[in-house]
Formats: sequence, C-alpha cells, structure tokens
Amino acid sequence: RRIAEADSVAVIGLGRFGTSLARELMAAGTEVLGIDRDEDLVQALNGELTQVVRADATKEEVLRQLAVDEFDRVVIAIGHDVTASILAASLLIQLQVPVIWAKAVDDQHGRILEQLGVHHVIYPEKDMGRRVAHLVRGAAMDYL
Ligand code: ATP
Repeated sequence: RRIAEADSVAVIGLGRFGTSLARELMAAGTEVLGIDRDEDLVQALNGELTQVVRADATKEEVLRQLAVDEFDRVVIAIGHDVTASILAASLLIQLQVPVIWAKAVDDQHGRILEQLGVHHVIYPEKDMGRRVAHLVRGAAMDYL
C-alpha cells in the first residue's frame, strides 16, 4: 500500500532517534513509513507504524520501489553511519523529494548534508546538550 498521500512522512533509520520520531508522528496522526536495514528493529515496530519495511536506503531502486520520491517529507535518521546518511541524502535530492530533514552527528557531517542540499539539518546531541544546560542551570537556581 502506498501511503504517500496527504499527511505522511518517510523515516529512514529506526534507531533510538528515528523510532522516537516515528512514534511521535504517529501519535500526532501522521502516516509514517519506517525504513531500516535491521530486521529486528523492523519486527519490533511492525504494527506500530503505518508501514515498516526492511530495506537498504542507499539503493536507488529500493527508494523508488517504496515510492519514497512521492513523499513530501522524508527524514534521514541515520547518524553514525555517515556514509549511508550521505548516500541516502544524495539519492533523495536526486529524486527531488520536496522537503528533506536529516540528523547530523557532528558539524562536518552537517556541512556535507547542507552542501548536498538537504533542507533541514538537525543536531540532536548538540541541541539536547544545550537544552539540558539550561535545565541544569534552572535547577541550580532553585537552591540559590
Ligand atoms: P540512534 O542514536 O538514533 O540510535 P545512531 O545515531 O547510532 O542512531 P545509526 O546507528 O547509524 O545511528 O543509524 C540508525 C539506524 O539507521 C539503525 O537502526 C540502522 O540500522 C539504520 N540504517 C543505517 N544505515 C541504513 C541504510 N543504509 N538503510 C536503512 N537503514 C539504515
């Protein structure tokens, strides 16, 4: 079944970040296609997302078969395998996906994603560190 219509997002990589993101989107009423090359992760999420598929997102024919190019929004939630992240990003741009989000593990990774033309690059660890710093400071204020 193709779920590319209306409010749908494809999430590539279902690690801790991708899984959390996919679940949150589902809870908000968005249709989610999850893709991961790890069979165990796919099994674990089966039934929880609109569709979950075990596949290698660095292969063009795979992305075409899954009609990823018909999604308005795709999130690359692959982190530490920088090569896979970059290959997937390059293919999604070539397939002219209108809005691509990608997570970067560090500034170098983020710069490459931006140079490729990824529309939104996010840095979860860096952002969370900054956010927690504010929380820690706020908590310290309670004791002053
Ligand atoms: P997290 O912090 O979200 O747990 P991570 O930053 O450690 O993840 P990775 O382990 O590199 O990131 O990737 C997250 C997920 O992406 C993994 O479940 C991995 O199986 C999947 N993944 C990596 N490469 C590919 C690929 N080519 N195709 C599909 N899925 C992939």
